[in-house]
Amino acid sequence: MIYLNGDFLRIEEARISVLDRGFIFGDGVYEVIPVYSRKPFRLAEHLRRLQHSLDGIRLQNPHSDSEWTYLLEQIVALNEGEDQYIYLHITRGVARRDHAFPQGVAPTVFIMSNPLLTPPPGLLHTGVVAISAADNRWLRCDIKAISLLPNVLLRQMAIDEGALETVLFRDGFMTEGAASNIFVVRNGILLAPPKNHLMLPGITYDVVLELAQASGIPHEVRAITEHEVRTAEELLLTSSTKEIMPITRLDNQPVGEGKPGKMFALFYQLYQSYKQTTMRG
Ligand code: PMP
Repeated sequence: MIYLNGDFLRIEEARISVLDRGFIFGDGVYEVIPVYSRKPFRLAEHLRRLQHSLDGIRLQNPHSDSEWTYLLEQIVALNEGEDQYIYLHITRGVARRDHAFPQGVAPTVFIMSNPLLTPPPGLLHTGVVAISAADNRWLRCDIKAISLLPNVLLRQMAIDEGALETVLFRDGFMTEGAASNIFVVRNGILLAPPKNHLMLPGITYDVVLELAQASGIPHEVRAITEHEVRTAEELLLTSSTKEIMPITRLDNQPVGEGKPGKMFALFYQLYQSYKQTTMRG
């Protein structure tokens, strides 16, 4: 079952207008929220990022946090699986086609939830293959916008080469992955690029930095050069659905020793225990 503009429906029954600005212009924002043991993970943080995205496109939030919480609880209850991931999508609504904002139009609100499949253990043992590319996206990558054409093309480049993700560089510095954030390990220190308009402020990214802080693991948040990425001891990829994964090959070269490293093993464990505590709490 899905939610669309006030109704809970089977997905086959859900309809939107061809004039929806999401369809016509990609004029909208979204969130992806993992659900563990039927509890949304870091919900307050996801709703805060949603507000940031809505502010970024100057669209009023159609719901209060308590209304969102209620709707998400309903969607989780109506879908199968203890672990799910919620996809929540808001567009500027249906209006005659014109680039300028329409007046007095209600936004379109769509929510669905699907079973969450965390990465297969085999992939965590071998690590994943990545390629790199120039970051050719716009300059507001901090907005989780539904217009994802550059990300689609960049990620497909990876798939076409038998890789899982594309690591992006802009002006000599690493920004993020096409659908993930990237951490770098050098001299035993975990490096994270600073949050700014060139990357999505990942919820998993924040969790990793909090865990590093809480466990006293040496870490730095600073700009990371392309050279530092290419000569890293380890590269880690994070996202809500992939959690934390080791990148062991980049552009056909081994990363460090070409196998998942100590920092990955450590953070994988820390992340799993953190998940357990939030499920109990
Ligand atoms: N960057 C981009 C471009 C993404 O699409 C995503 C999410 N798939 C992330 C980073 C990771 O964000 P989160 O940890 O909140 O899933």
